[in-house]
Amino acid sequence: MGVLADMQVPFVNLSRQHEEIEGDLRAAFERVLAQGSFTLGPEVEAFEKEFASFVGTADAIGVASGTDALHLTLRAMGVGPGDEVITAVNTFAATAEAIVMCGATPVFVDIEEDTCLLDLDAAERAVSQHTRVILPVHLYGQMVDMQRVRHIASQHSLRVVEDACQAHGAKTDGESAGAASDAGCFSFYPSKNLGAMGDGGIVTTDDVQISDAVRLLRAHGEDEDRLHTVSGYCSRLHGMQAAFLRAKLPKLPSWNESRRLSAEIYELELADTGVITPSVMPGSEHVFHLYVAQVPDRDAFRSYLGERGIQTGVHYPVPLHLEPAFAQLGYARGDFPVAERVASQIVSLPMFPHMTEQEVEYVAEVASAALQDQEAAIAVGA
Ligand SMILES: *Cc1c(COP(=O)(O)O)cnc(C)c1O
Repeated sequence: MGVLADMQVPFVNLSRQHEEIEGDLRAAFERVLAQGSFTLGPEVEAFEKEFASFVGTADAIGVASGTDALHLTLRAMGVGPGDEVITAVNTFAATAEAIVMCGATPVFVDIEEDTCLLDLDAAERAVSQHTRVILPVHLYGQMVDMQRVRHIASQHSLRVVEDACQAHGAKTDGESAGAASDAGCFSFYPSKNLGAMGDGGIVTTDDVQISDAVRLLRAHGEDEDRLHTVSGYCSRLHGMQAAFLRAKLPKLPSWNESRRLSAEIYELELADTGVITPSVMPGSEHVFHLYVAQVPDRDAFRSYLGERGIQTGVHYPVPLHLEPAFAQLGYARGDFPVAERVASQIVSLPMFPHMTEQEVEYVAEVASAALQDQEAAIAVGA
């Protein structure tokens, strides 16, 4: 490891991505300046068409964030007070926030230990007479088994919304994230697989009732005759962001491929080291928004890597039922044993499309050395 010992590996580096397409980004900026159309407008309309065709849905509706995509979709479905929405307990807070914003109740469900995805047996058991929607999260970039989700939903007359905020381009057996339910919700937060230069989001759907309602709600409930038919929101996708996203979308497949190649190197180097690597389900095209491993002593592991110039993250350290923000839901420690155990062992290794092979190799090498050190320490009773 001698030669590599001074390497610094950031968790994410966006400037390398921007260097690759700097000319296109500058052209996009100039185009929007010339148009003078900054909230919605021609760039947004063009991007909506291009993103819908990328995902394979009839329509896509640009909004201000991934959270708004979820919130406005649930609103469009009429979800409100007294309704329950089933989702995973280990997701980013925004998933649950969107449900709370509707006045509805998030019903959390435990996860599968190997994939960290929603446990669908538990999801089915959580259905009550108040359940309106199942909201699976394609966490870390891998799709939940949507065939099974749709089956459960049809058995209980529920609607399905995908939180695809970490899964741009992910597929299962050829079916795309965002096209496998009533509506898919994406975020363009800068570090997502497809990121804007600020906030943004989009809803993908084949359902005209949903697309009409989200279009109305995102812009103050104002219809084409300028009549305010509902009290809506200020949640427009910006022309500038849409133009930047149009420059990036054609690159997304190759950027996802690059993430998969890095994941392959991690997998190869970390097998048999005691690091539990992410498990990819058969037929699944994972897009590795995050590369989340599991290790026995996470704090020691993270400081070992940190001392050697490697940034890591934890997604997410506290399952939502134990977060103060959701205390009013009345859950307690012990309610979701798998998610609670996994939360203390997960660690996200550096992962972004423009990582060099040398950087990936270095991280893998240091990570496996960290575990050997930990095992040696345990063996001598340290
Ligand atoms: C990023 C993210 C969101 C929210 O997206 P914003 O654009 O930040 O509002 C929702 N759910 C998941 C799983 C996410 O990762």
